[in-house]
Amino acid sequence: MQRVVEGYTSGEVPDYQMSALLMAIFIRGMSYEETLALTEAMAGSGGRYSFPHCVDKHSTGGVGDKISLTSLPLAAACGAPVAKLAGRGLGTTGGTVDKLESIPGFSCHLSEERFEKQVEEVGLAIMEAGDLAPADKAIYALRDTTGTVDSLPLVGSSIVSKKAATGAGHLLYDVKSGSGAFMKTPEEARELADLLVRLSKSFGIDASALVTGMDEPLGLAVGNALEVRESVSFLRGETSPADLSEMARTVAARLLELKGIPDPESAVEDAISSGAAHEKFSEFVVAQGGDPEALENLPVSDEVREISAPRAGHIARFSALGVGSAALLLGAGREKKGDEVDPGAGVEVFVKIGDEVEKGQPVARLHGERKAQRAGELVLEALEISGTPIERPPAILGSL
Ligand code: URA
Repeated sequence: MQRVVEGYTSGEVPDYQMSALLMAIFIRGMSYEETLALTEAMAGSGGRYSFPHCVDKHSTGGVGDKISLTSLPLAAACGAPVAKLAGRGLGTTGGTVDKLESIPGFSCHLSEERFEKQVEEVGLAIMEAGDLAPADKAIYALRDTTGTVDSLPLVGSSIVSKKAATGAGHLLYDVKSGSGAFMKTPEEARELADLLVRLSKSFGIDASALVTGMDEPLGLAVGNALEVRESVSFLRGETSPADLSEMARTVAARLLELKGIPDPESAVEDAISSGAAHEKFSEFVVAQGGDPEALENLPVSDEVREISAPRAGHIARFSALGVGSAALLLGAGREKKGDEVDPGAGVEVFVKIGDEVEKGQPVARLHGERKAQRAGELVLEALEISGTPIERPPAILGSL
């Protein structure tokens, strides 16, 4: 594994040979030891950080997923230092860097020294993951073009190689399951969660995982500035959507538990009600150049279009994938690497699975001027209204 990974990263092993290996792994799978060897080789292919006293979380990606923006300031406010390397969004999956950069002045380009200093002084720093695990970057690009992305050992080694190179000592994985997620069923998500925790522990990382639902968007906001607004409102202690509120609190409490902080649930509640979590977020934004005044009323696109329920009934489906695709068309995401995002674009949903609606009641508002007609059609296609009551799905499906 070491020889192949080194050879591929240096250009000595050509694409056709690496593709053959990837296809063999895709078809046959790998033993745990083989997967670990691949992960170790990729983790060691570039620079490595070390933050053994810090906590971090990793989500496998979803629509409206603002749990980093909410749970991390919360954890930091409770005394668990956070050193996070984050990415940009691709396709319907949003990225924390894009979300934070919707705050005027905010930058995720920090030098290593400044990053370390901020972790020390503020207890929370997030920077763009640059040259971490370059072998993974090269192999992932090849997987993308050879149809070999969807393989458990390849996904597991790809994620954990970057986490091992990031170096946080305590790590919580949030493995999403559903239409807007990489893993479509809870069973697949659980299998990935098991592998991520096992591999991480082999690297000496104190890891655990949650399996969470991604059949509908998380919270009500999808889009960069829209999601920061919703996160700030949560951190201020205002009434928030139940799924966002439960998940942000649970993730923060689990991070505190990993760090050994006593009575994590009460610590989290106190940090919200005392204003400490909101203050920590503002302090972090200022430290990275953001304008704290703008944060209180972030501009979103005023090019808006409302979508109404075509009939009365109960919301049976509001597909995360469909809403995420609409937000992408409006300019909130990028179809390919390097595309420009519109920070003010996105979709606000007004209903969640299980809600009852009247015919003509607004169910979503689109923000953004790009391809709004098609985006509106996608939102309507994402919606299914049933004549019979529907139970609200749980936000958290499992834990390990
Ligand atoms: N995310 C990653 O970082 N790698 C994968 O292979 C899939 C999702």
